Amino acid sequence: MNLFGTLYCRTAQFITNKIAMPMVYFPEPKKITGSGCLANIPALLKDGHYLCPFVMMGKHFEHSPDGLRFLEVLKEIYPEVVTFDEVPPNPTVDAVYAAYYVAKKSNCDAIVAIGGGSVLDAAKIVGALLTNPRRPLTKMKGVLKIRHRLPLFIAVPTTAGTGSEATVAAVITDSKTHDKFAISDPHLIPKIAVLDDTLLTSLPPSLIASTGMDALTHAVEAYLGHALTKKTASYALQSVRLIHDNLLAFYQDPKNETARKNMQEASYLAGVAFTRSYVGYVHAIAHSLGGAYNVPHGYANAIILPHVLRAYGKKAEKKLARLSDVAKLTAYDESREKKAQAFLSWIEEANKAMGIPTQFQGVIQEKDIPALARHAAKEANPFYPVPKELSAKQLKAIYQELDTYDSRNKAN
Ligand code: NAD
Repeated sequence: MNLFGTLYCRTAQFITNKIAMPMVYFPEPKKITGSGCLANIPALLKDGHYLCPFVMMGKHFEHSPDGLRFLEVLKEIYPEVVTFDEVPPNPTVDAVYAAYYVAKKSNCDAIVAIGGGSVLDAAKIVGALLTNPRRPLTKMKGVLKIRHRLPLFIAVPTTAGTGSEATVAAVITDSKTHDKFAISDPHLIPKIAVLDDTLLTSLPPSLIASTGMDALTHAVEAYLGHALTKKTASYALQSVRLIHDNLLAFYQDPKNETARKNMQEASYLAGVAFTRSYVGYVHAIAHSLGGAYNVPHGYANAIILPHVLRAYGKKAEKKLARLSDVAKLTAYDESREKKAQAFLSWIEEANKAMGIPTQFQGVIQEKDIPALARHAAKEANPFYPVPKELSAKQLKAIYQELDTYDSRNKAN
């Protein structure tokens, strides 16, 4: 990016991070943890005198033994409990409205969201629509657009990746325009996060891999940015250490309870970290691909992460070296350059060990690249406090690197 562009971005980031953001309160959810702690929810709703909980859940959960048991107990207190299970991955505006009409019709006064990031995000916006009915969903796009508090919101993640149970954000796709956009507002931070690791035992290894790399991307992007606070730095570093020490073990054996719990905690910590300290170009690119081609978010992040870190070059070296130290990848007195390289190599090796390729292999259409790069630049610039500003033109080069055009062109 040219000097003028960089200056513009840095000024916008300075005003946001040093002046505006310190005035915003980012609460942390009340955290309930432990194997089987999902069972606490019915009593919690009853004790709070809620009349009509709205349960949004992933289909995998609804038909699982855990899901059946949970709904059975809940129905003893709320025989007419209202449920919704039609949220697609990369949730759409239409799916959110479909759920909202169901919840609104029944005058629901609490939301329990049980699923991956897609269900949690869709449920957050259902909550926002319930208390902000005059604001259409598309007008919530961006930052601080939700005026009123959500109804009680309990988030129960069934993947260890997005951290949505702790974050300020919900990511929704407009099915017509394929625009995948974030809605960010402290009102979207769940009141309660229920971290029951037993719900993760049904995850297939490929999802453990991609969602785990999603959590890593949150921690790394938050840590590399200029909006780090003492707390978010500590959370991001803890998260990276936990992911380094546990992701492969969890991938190899979803029954490994310690690895499972640690990955769930890592995902939560990374969620809190990026809520205050933002993400970066990896996410901006992943959102463009999620919207255009429905590429799963964590999988996209896993592939994109090393490419973007390489594009940051020297500007990210010091912090990458620190991450390498936290993961104990090299001798402590090794050079910064070697440490940063070791961290990058570790990400690439972890991807390889979990069957994640280095490129997308025919997903990205070459003709779409200019529009995708513009989408990513518009999302990230000027506010993402990245180590090195990249223009849409520079981002285009990353998109080109991300798919197999070279080999296809050579073959032609
Ligand atoms: P997901 O919610 O899209 O789920 C992917 C698939 O996994 C679905 O088919 C789901 O049914 C299945 N699944 C989920 N849990 C399972 C389990 N325990 N066992 C078996 N199958 C299970 O995946 P995700 O990666 O958790 O969420 C991705 C979405 O979250 C994207 O839309 C992304 O943009 C968004 N996201 C949001 C935030 C945030 O802060 N709100 C952060 C990162 C990503």
